[in-house]
Amino acid sequence: MTIKITLQHLLFLLAAPAFIFTAAAQQTDERIYEIIEEVSAERLENDIRTLAGFGTRNTFSDTISDTRGIGAARRWIKAEFDNISQNCNNCLDVFYQKDFVTTEDGNRIPHDAWVVNVVAIQKGTKYPNRYVIMSGDIDSRASDTMDFETDAPGANDNASGMAGAIEAARVLSNYEFENSIIYVGLSGEEQGLFGGKGLAEYAQKNDWEIIGILNNDMIGNIEGVDGVIDNRSFRIFSGPVPPTETERERNMRRFYGGEVDGISRQLARYVHKTTETYMPEMNPMMIYRLDRFGRGGHHRPFNDLGFPGIRIMEAHENYNRQHQDIRTEDGIEYGDVIEGVNFDYAAKLTAVNAINLASLAWAPPAPKNVEIGGIVEPSTRLRWEKVSGDVAGYKIYWRDTTAPQWQHSRFVGDVNEFTLTGIVIDNFYFGVSSVGTNGHESPVVFPSGTFR
Ligand SMILES: [Zn+2]
Repeated sequence: MTIKITLQHLLFLLAAPAFIFTAAAQQTDERIYEIIEEVSAERLENDIRTLAGFGTRNTFSDTISDTRGIGAARRWIKAEFDNISQNCNNCLDVFYQKDFVTTEDGNRIPHDAWVVNVVAIQKGTKYPNRYVIMSGDIDSRASDTMDFETDAPGANDNASGMAGAIEAARVLSNYEFENSIIYVGLSGEEQGLFGGKGLAEYAQKNDWEIIGILNNDMIGNIEGVDGVIDNRSFRIFSGPVPPTETERERNMRRFYGGEVDGISRQLARYVHKTTETYMPEMNPMMIYRLDRFGRGGHHRPFNDLGFPGIRIMEAHENYNRQHQDIRTEDGIEYGDVIEGVNFDYAAKLTAVNAINLASLAWAPPAPKNVEIGGIVEPSTRLRWEKVSGDVAGYKIYWRDTTAPQWQHSRFVGDVNEFTLTGIVIDNFYFGVSSVGTNGHESPVVFPSGTFR
């Protein structure tokens, strides 16, 4: 981010040695702290209770009843988004996006049905076709995923993520953004990630430019099945490189590295960094893996189409409270009930999402076609295509090849190439981001080509 030095600051500099702290403070955006404050654990609790109260939200459950089943749940979610929109001068475009699945589409589909997502779009003022997405899931399941009648409150899995997306919409609809934000409830997660697949295909068909999807799946449990209690840690799962990478990209990776620098990984680093900057009380854990072993999530269908996407979730899972019929067996209580959700923690993780949505939606587009040069030279050169918009300039990042996070950075101004004198290309990984005049930054872009 840039540091703007005004006359007042120069005078302040002469007056007080504390200038340096003022300058540092200017690198943060006060509005981001406001957003953290505005996320309400109480509203999250109400919404999670309401969602759990629909009995089951299995994708194949009742769609007619107003009190039970997935139909009632999605109509309630749509009504919530509509209410939020009314309070912000119709700033949200709310609609159902649906796809029909049949028993032919998988072995966990009890009968043909519509998989219905509830989408709320807050259009960006400058780049309406660029989207950053926060998702939760509408659906829940009992012990047997084919059983769409038994109670499956799914309080943590995944009413917590769904409520988080609704709450983020409530908070962020009070602000205007350059890029569009989508808050979405996806269905069909438990039977094969159908809702995410449907929306990802819809995005592709409509030529949406996806900045990234922050998929929230279980953001309310703080008591691990191993007994660890921790209300500060959470995990950010990200795949290494897009499954859509081309042969040329694979070859480039073989010779120049980048196994841990795909687009989803850069998004994960972005979320990690924003959290450390604005919510230092939290402990974000970068997990270099698409998802947990043998488990899936709705960021994956987006990744499948080449979009950046990550999974945000609690650090300590409690398997007794996931995908279990409510019962007591050998003194152990099973079931995904409301008692297993910590609302303050869900509010923290919702805030993590909200500040990243805001920061990404306020940031200019990332530089395009970043290329790197400096082969058999003592300095590293980078060049890129500039982007339009309120761009203050570009920032080059680099780090040791074994380091998980970017370690060094240099703001180089509004140029399209730069030489890092004395930095040898072979010894680091490099990337470039765009920095807006408002201080917000795009994710870092890893070079996709070389030059001599
Ligand atoms: Zn689940």
